[in-house]
Amino acid sequence: MNIDIQDLIRVSRLFGSDPSYVLAGGGNTSFKNEEKIWIKASGISLATIDKNGFVSLSREKLKLVSQKTYSQDPLIRENEVKADLHEAIVSPKELRPSVETSLHDLINYRFVVHTHPTKVNGVMCAQNAEKWCREMFGEKALFIPYTDPGYILFKVVAEGIRIFAEENGTQPKLIFLENHGVFVGADTTAEIESIYAELMATIETNLILPLPSTVKSGLSSIILDQAAHLNPGFEGFKALGINSALIDQFIANETTFAKANKSFSPDDIVYCKAHYLYVPDSGSEAAILAETKARVAAYLKKYGYLPKVIALQGKGIIAVEDSLKSAQNVLDVYENILKISFYAENFGGPKFMNDEQIAFIDNWEVENYRRKMAKS
Ligand SMILES: [Zn+2]
Repeated sequence: MNIDIQDLIRVSRLFGSDPSYVLAGGGNTSFKNEEKIWIKASGISLATIDKNGFVSLSREKLKLVSQKTYSQDPLIRENEVKADLHEAIVSPKELRPSVETSLHDLINYRFVVHTHPTKVNGVMCAQNAEKWCREMFGEKALFIPYTDPGYILFKVVAEGIRIFAEENGTQPKLIFLENHGVFVGADTTAEIESIYAELMATIETNLILPLPSTVKSGLSSIILDQAAHLNPGFEGFKALGINSALIDQFIANETTFAKANKSFSPDDIVYCKAHYLYVPDSGSEAAILAETKARVAAYLKKYGYLPKVIALQGKGIIAVEDSLKSAQNVLDVYENILKISFYAENFGGPKFMNDEQIAFIDNWEVENYRRKMAKS
């Protein structure tokens, strides 16, 4: 096997197996030479990736994507782009390249490692993300305000890189995406690792408030058993529940929960949906279950789908999903939302995605494909 691909696999597993960098199927990595780019296939996990998890594409054909004019309709446009990406595949044709392929191709360094580190997102999902980014990284980084993922994001980053290169004489090695994560590019994986190490150290010096304990305790099995059968739509579903000092701080009351009741980034929506259900403590277990049932029904009526995250005041959070694996993914991703919200207090407080941004992801077929793959 090509030594660069071996290196790509190594660095992918290194970051992919660390939950403080990526969760579930998140993040992607690539290596490129003059002719081809090898990128993680959609739905493949970085933690366990091998050479069969990468798709190689022709960079010549990928360039067409940046030159072509696509439909104004986002759904038609993303389908057109998807078809052109498929057209650019060298091998294997049956895998789907990451939706961020064109973006990786833009970055003029041989290796690119894109992750969603919790601490980085503590800044990226904060009210003053851009200001803090400038203060901490100055001219070293490119900051991209939140943009719908896919083709539009690609165009916005392309323009950002063009301007950055014009001003600095070189492309940025560090690209921050608001409410999303970070792209790091370099010609060696050793440099990628050292850029990440410096990045994390810089953010850590600005984390003033200590994170409450994340040591977990379980929830009453009676509540869990019944939570999984609260709604006819939950037929055959499984529920997992946890509590911790961190969780407890957010589920104390409606006001504290308002800091964690919406999604920060597209991946949150992929796994947990965009809105989370809060149930106030109404006394006995029977009363809590009755209240939960009523609120699940109201949630379904409002959003058109069942909640994946249910927070019981003072008791813990419950994930309801069609398998235990999916329920565990939901808990992991939601706990990460709580950490991001907590870290964001150091940078002006949390800033969620807005309703328009959420609707775009909710309607996006590419994300639905990832959701489906994550379950298989
Ligand atoms: Zn991403």
